[in-house]
Amino acid sequence: MKGKAAVLVKPDRIETWEVPIADPEPGGIVVRTVVGGVCGSDVHIANGDAGEMPFPIILGHEGVGRIEKLGPGVDADYAGVSVKVGDLVVWSPIPLCGRCYSCTVLQQTPCENTQYFEHAEKPNWGSYSDYAWLPRGMSFYRLPEGADPLAVAALGCALPTVLRGFDRCGPIQLNDAVVVQGAGPVGLSAVLVASQMGARSITVIDKAPARLEAARRLGATNIVSLDLSMEERARAIADETGPSGADVVIECAGVLQAFPEGIDLTGPHGRYIVLGLWGAIGTQPVSPRDLTVKNLTIGGAAFPAPRNYYHAMHLAARLQNKVLLADLISHRFSIADATKALEVTHSGAATKAIIDPAL
Ligand SMILES: [Zn+2]
Ligand SMILES: [Zn+2]
Repeated sequence: MKGKAAVLVKPDRIETWEVPIADPEPGGIVVRTVVGGVCGSDVHIANGDAGEMPFPIILGHEGVGRIEKLGPGVDADYAGVSVKVGDLVVWSPIPLCGRCYSCTVLQQTPCENTQYFEHAEKPNWGSYSDYAWLPRGMSFYRLPEGADPLAVAALGCALPTVLRGFDRCGPIQLNDAVVVQGAGPVGLSAVLVASQMGARSITVIDKAPARLEAARRLGATNIVSLDLSMEERARAIADETGPSGADVVIECAGVLQAFPEGIDLTGPHGRYIVLGLWGAIGTQPVSPRDLTVKNLTIGGAAFPAPRNYYHAMHLAARLQNKVLLADLISHRFSIADATKALEVTHSGAATKAIIDPAL
């Protein structure tokens, strides 16, 4: 069996290859990709910012697809739900070995033996592809009955990332005043979860009208334009939160300058959760004294765990009609047009772009 795939052969060079699709290994499955989500990280991987990769690699770590072949011994997903050929599944793209210090003692992802990419011609789980070959140890979950694969894919790895942030740094509490910096997929996911958890107010800072409109739909109560000066933004947020300030500020902007502003916006005894700076390498001046006198907690998170993918899938399926999640997908591209998909993601033109192998 063979399938098409978008292969990054070196930084800034993507080619469409016909690659061999191996039979699944014991414990693994082969999936026919229905949606390959395009993530901001893919832009950094493709342009070389994320460091040296084991080229050539198949891009894409967000996928929803239908089971094409079950490996020996597989009759259920990683939550014990029985599966058969043709079922829709979503997978956690971070394989875990189950027998290392991170896996068994820390119980954290990633794991010492996690391999993010594999050579494009070897069995491969990159999702800009017709097929994804999921090894043993790569968690996959069957979508609930009636779930729209586009709704589950719409927030991509951003929604699991936000859930991991709350796992690591504590959840939103009832009546918290929340500020979200940035309304890309991570920011929109933060808005959605904060709203579901009972935040009193959710203020979003961004300037792209389509993203701000989406943020409102997902539960934002207040919009602050990035076109205002930093002082004006702070005043607008203080007007919303009142004198107690923001209880939780979530960095989802992906730009370094957001960091000192986020610390500043976090109210006394508040928490600042940094999720968006994965690709933003550099430093920023901050006043450490502010952390002490305001009693602040700062945390960050990346590399969601399988449980975060499981909960993200169920949350998306449950809310798919209420907040029209699939409508967040603004751009669709064929495998051959992967370069264009990365361009609209990089420019911010897309709320969310996907690769649709059927195109
Ligand atoms: Zn991602
Ligand atoms: Zn491990």
